[in-house]
Amino acid sequence: MSIRLKLTLLYSTILTLTLMIFGVALYSIQAQETLNSLKEDMVISIMRLKNPAMDIFLGEPPLNPDNQNSPPPKRFDEFLDGSAFQDIREREIVRILDSTFTLIASPYGKIEDALPLSEEGKIALQDQTDWWEEGIVADEQMLIFSRPVIDDGEISFIVQIARSLTERNRTLRSLATTLSIAGGIIVVFAFGIGWMISGFTLRPIHRITMTAKKIGDKRDFSRRVDHEGPQDEIGQLASTFNEMLTKLEEAYNKVEKALDQQREFIADVSHELRTPLTTILGNLALMRRAPSIPDDDQEDVLNDMVEESNRLIRLVNDLLTLAHADARQKIKMRITDVSSVLDECIREVSHLNRNRNINSKIFPELIMLGSKDALKQIFLILIDNAIKYSSGNIEISATEADENIYISFQDQGKGIPLHEKKHIFERFYRGKDRSKDEGFGLGLPIAKALTREMDGEIAVESNVGQGSTFIVQFPIYKSE
Ligand code: ADP
Repeated sequence: MSIRLKLTLLYSTILTLTLMIFGVALYSIQAQETLNSLKEDMVISIMRLKNPAMDIFLGEPPLNPDNQNSPPPKRFDEFLDGSAFQDIREREIVRILDSTFTLIASPYGKIEDALPLSEEGKIALQDQTDWWEEGIVADEQMLIFSRPVIDDGEISFIVQIARSLTERNRTLRSLATTLSIAGGIIVVFAFGIGWMISGFTLRPIHRITMTAKKIGDKRDFSRRVDHEGPQDEIGQLASTFNEMLTKLEEAYNKVEKALDQQREFIADVSHELRTPLTTILGNLALMRRAPSIPDDDQEDVLNDMVEESNRLIRLVNDLLTLAHADARQKIKMRITDVSSVLDECIREVSHLNRNRNINSKIFPELIMLGSKDALKQIFLILIDNAIKYSSGNIEISATEADENIYISFQDQGKGIPLHEKKHIFERFYRGKDRSKDEGFGLGLPIAKALTREMDGEIAVESNVGQGSTFIVQFPIYKSE
């Protein structure tokens, strides 16, 4: 069952119950009120009748109810020309009983005129108290009031008055019918209005559901729920849903981008692996040729194969380093002296590149928390690039400022054009003026990944024609 139907049914039921309680209360009050006013009227009537009746019946001996020959009741007009009872109202039934509850006077003087009187009534009257009861007289529902007239402490006679309840009951029935029909119409009407209101109120939820469904079907996270209503609970739900969609969209785009990068990466890796492997395979084919190639050529082919194998190993090592960084395999951090690691790297590189002039200005004992191997790898990549992409002097400096260590590698090469600068830290990206051999475009991405692992940053400043400066920054180690 839908929430809309549940809500509508709920408040329709509440309305029905309220109307029922209201109807029953109204009916009961009306029934009681009409009965009370009837009783008041009958009491007035009986008071009016009491005096003339006393003139006639006071002191009259009771008839013997067991005597079959006792006289029939008398007609009212037999007394004092009937004038005593001329005040009897229309539709009012009056009877006079003696103290043994035998009918002694009625308008027509017939024994059958006797009104119903229950045993409890007789007991009450004997106790000299008034008695009210309802009974059927000539097929009509009547209210019968009996009042004993006391003389000298004894019941002298009893006056009875009866009034038809038919009119009152009819009025009550019609009230009940009116209330039921009006209540029914109100409930049906309220159900319709409630159905519309709940539909209107729940429409944003429906829209959210539809949006969610469309997103699910089409994977279109750019969709939003359009809710222009107030910021009530539903408004908040719509806003929260939209906020969630914004975050989902961002996450989805990130995952998409990461997947694209991964696909690109795999394509690049395959390409880079294929080139040396193809060369090796080609050289192997040359070696197997019969008749075999001359000895000198064989030497060249073997050298070529060794070179390509080394290149393959370098590539695999680079990929491994990146894979470790991606898998967040934490580098083992130790207290490390950056100055001495940098000195060591410069020494190694200078030894291999004697023709290059590397000037260094290194502040001693720059201590950080990091890994010597990782630092060495970063520094070698940056010095190596400075050598590869420039021909002039190389300036290396290391200093500290604002609780950070700054290491800069400055060359006087061609510099990096702006459009290339934003890509140089991407995997397998190589600039237009890249060196022809060796590199895979993985040096700077590795340097960046390792720097990040050690809570550092890497940045580049470069002007075309003036050279490039790569700056690495690490937080200085503080013993506490
Ligand atoms: P690789 O050197 O193998 O090409 P890197 O990731 O180390 O890969 O560098 C990426 C690119 O950044 C290089 O191809 C080159 O275009 C550019 N680059 C890096 N260092 C320098 C530098 N010092 N001067 C000019 N260009 C540089």
